[in-house]
Amino acid sequence: MNKTACPLDCYDACEIVYEDSHITAQKSGHTKGFLCPHLNHYEEFKQIQSPIYEGKEISMDEALLKLKEIINSCEKDKLLHYKSAGNFGFMQSVIKHFFASFGATLTDGNLCDGAAEAGIIEGRGSNKNMPLSQIEKSEVVILWGRNPHTTSSHLLPLLKDKKVIVIDPVKTKAAKMADIYVQIKPRGDLEFAMLLSRFLHIEHGHDEEYLKEFASDYEDFYELTQTIRIKATLDKIDVTLGDIGDILAMVKDKKVAIVCGVGIQKYRNGDEVMRAIDAFAVNLGLFGKEGCGVAYLGNSSDRIISPFSTTKKLVSKVDTKFSDFDTVFVQGANPLSQMPNTQSVKNEISKVKNLIYFGLYENETSKVANLVIPAKNFLYKSDIRTSFSHNSMLEMPKQKDTDLGISEYELSRYLCDEFDIEIKSESEYLKHFKNFGQIKNESNLIVQGIEEIPYKDGFDTDTEEFLFLEEFEAFDPDNEKLFLITPKSAKSLNSQFKRDNHVYLNASHGFKNDDKVIVESAIGSVELEVKVNNNLREDCVLIYSGTEGVNNLTTSLHSYEGKCAIYQEEMVWLKAI
Ligand code: SF4
Repeated sequence: MNKTACPLDCYDACEIVYEDSHITAQKSGHTKGFLCPHLNHYEEFKQIQSPIYEGKEISMDEALLKLKEIINSCEKDKLLHYKSAGNFGFMQSVIKHFFASFGATLTDGNLCDGAAEAGIIEGRGSNKNMPLSQIEKSEVVILWGRNPHTTSSHLLPLLKDKKVIVIDPVKTKAAKMADIYVQIKPRGDLEFAMLLSRFLHIEHGHDEEYLKEFASDYEDFYELTQTIRIKATLDKIDVTLGDIGDILAMVKDKKVAIVCGVGIQKYRNGDEVMRAIDAFAVNLGLFGKEGCGVAYLGNSSDRIISPFSTTKKLVSKVDTKFSDFDTVFVQGANPLSQMPNTQSVKNEISKVKNLIYFGLYENETSKVANLVIPAKNFLYKSDIRTSFSHNSMLEMPKQKDTDLGISEYELSRYLCDEFDIEIKSESEYLKHFKNFGQIKNESNLIVQGIEEIPYKDGFDTDTEEFLFLEEFEAFDPDNEKLFLITPKSAKSLNSQFKRDNHVYLNASHGFKNDDKVIVESAIGSVELEVKVNNNLREDCVLIYSGTEGVNNLTTSLHSYEGKCAIYQEEMVWLKAI
């Protein structure tokens, strides 16, 4: 029996067992004996079987020679390495070491959670996460835009016997089981969080002793909340005073975990939304106490120094101008599907002379690449990972050999040797990362120095106090248009695995299942088949992330803070065909 871990970019970071060629869940620990469909069917998803150059299958040796030739022929400042987080192992980034040392440009920016992370850091001074082990100890859990049945199923066992509040524009499975459900209008979260703080203050439910010590500007923040016009705002965000009263009654003097999803921050001011939710938690005195806090996506690299990090030439992966480069090496990413504003990405990528795709699965980007190099999946290489929802460090030793593909380390080693760049052995790098772990129990590791209860001794700002918002940007929706919601689906992880191809609409729009409809935004349009879903608000259009064409609709602007994509910024409208 061999222990390893799921490599995917997911909250849960499950511990798995690989035995007799089968992937199963580890029974102990947070994985609790079950995995999600992605890992249950992992080996059924067909990987790219051979390297391909200009449409023709070639051997790996030929592919490596071709890659060397292409890099050799390219001016350093015309070479881009574009990487995303298809696999979460630390060793995935060893390729950055080659490209940064060679003098290429690399990417930064964020296609996921960066706006809210920026808001967290503005308020708390750091992004330390409330781990699952603390959520387990809470009495009330607020799922704020988080759908655990789809994105974090290992939260579900922890919700048993707790009061659950769901705030979400979509009536999710969790919402149907919740004690309180608020089907808020999208983009209403910021003002709702501020109104919760305001009424908490009015009812003297705020934790004054805590605030005086850790957030002494709380009266100024209360004044800011008073600038909100109550009736007009409640109408705008579709929330009632009763909702506010019910929530406050349930959370006051309780151990509360506020568990947020990424949907709340897919807007230009995503940082402010998160900071307002954090402020509500601060007013309740939730940080630094057992079973209390805010869980979002913690910084999974907290306390870990990667030898592969670089601050050398970087361009954003949100609005990359690919045409500035002759050669683009894409790793663990599918920009032609997952970057916003697909039409513009298509135009940009079509101007690249040499597009190289390195990954596991065929997708929109691999299909137009000049050179495709298959990667090895996590069972065939060694790696190590951490998580953004718990503090474990999980080793992922190689389980078996294969002739298919090449690992990130093997590819980097080849390139470094060919271009005379120093590289350490794979085991040295693995040891480097493992050294940031400490034994927890038996042979399990946790990341050294991570606090089980974050912010126990105050915040990580210069003053060690929480910094409240001093101003905020209220959003006034165009009521003629519809909100676009782009969550993850249960069967895919962005553009990996079983992708959806529908648009989901409330029946009030008059469409039936299988009708075709055009969804338009100021950026572009997409034609999709309808699925009627009355769990959606009438003013929402839901298209899952990874659906082909969804990013025709989205803008390539960044969030104001956090250099993050803002997939839900554009409002949309429908056209019958
Ligand atoms: S729930 Fe997440 S971590 Fe667990 S198996 Fe599925 S994708 Fe992997």
